[in-house]
Amino acid sequence: MTGTLTLVGLGPGDPNLLTPQAAAALADATDLVGYAPYLDRVAPGAAIRHPSDNRVELDRARHALTLAAAGRRVAVVSGGDAGVFAMASAVFEAVEHGPPTWRALDITVAPGISAMFAAAARLGAPLGHDFCAISLSDNLKPWPLVTDRLTAVANAGFVIALYNPASTARPWQLGAAFDLLRALLPGDTPVAFASAVTRPDERIRLTTLADADPAHADMRTLVLIGSAATRRIPGTDWIYAPRAVPVA
Ligand code: SAH
Repeated sequence: MTGTLTLVGLGPGDPNLLTPQAAAALADATDLVGYAPYLDRVAPGAAIRHPSDNRVELDRARHALTLAAAGRRVAVVSGGDAGVFAMASAVFEAVEHGPPTWRALDITVAPGISAMFAAAARLGAPLGHDFCAISLSDNLKPWPLVTDRLTAVANAGFVIALYNPASTARPWQLGAAFDLLRALLPGDTPVAFASAVTRPDERIRLTTLADADPAHADMRTLVLIGSAATRRIPGTDWIYAPRAVPVA
């Protein structure tokens, strides 16, 4: 029996946003590997579940690869897209540094709808022109690198999707990021807090950079920061990026 490993992005939460490819990989798997709350989102079936804690991505990746090498059909699950601040990097890192046999494994990445796309869909078209995604977590990179990158992209006019904006262990970073950005961008730049998007307790708040309150973000929030070009249609909560940037 030949083992397989599929990296599955589950999307933001609504089962309608799970792709047919991802659903087929989950249904076909003999083993499901992932952070326990993500595994809980997978419909019950015959597959053996291997839940793990947060922050053990590399151990989880090696475990999944070991199972696949033993002939199992393994699905490794992530929320959103598996390649955006998620398990695909950990699996490929483990492949590069693991036994040579892992390089010959049958690995597939099944993409998913990332939180920034689900959030943008609620807001209008804020990602319609140049944008970037930054994880505000300094667990895997030094904080000064985060502030350097925020400064660079704000000065370059990118719309910014902030992942991992806050958690109980990281309470101050988002406030520091807003303070930094207020010195670089107009106060009326649109800022959106999109929490638990497509879940029953979804909450979308649209405000401005001047008024943005970091207390509105937690680990289930995607914070979207517009650019000076981002438009809010008067009388509505729609924001969008104009298609063209005028010649200065
Ligand atoms: N791979 C995931 C991101 C994992 S990092 C993806 O592509 O979406 C975890 C962060 O993603 C959270 O802190 C939050 O910022 C964001 N996130 C994930 N699901 C979300 C949802 N349903 N609503 C809002 N933000 C979400």
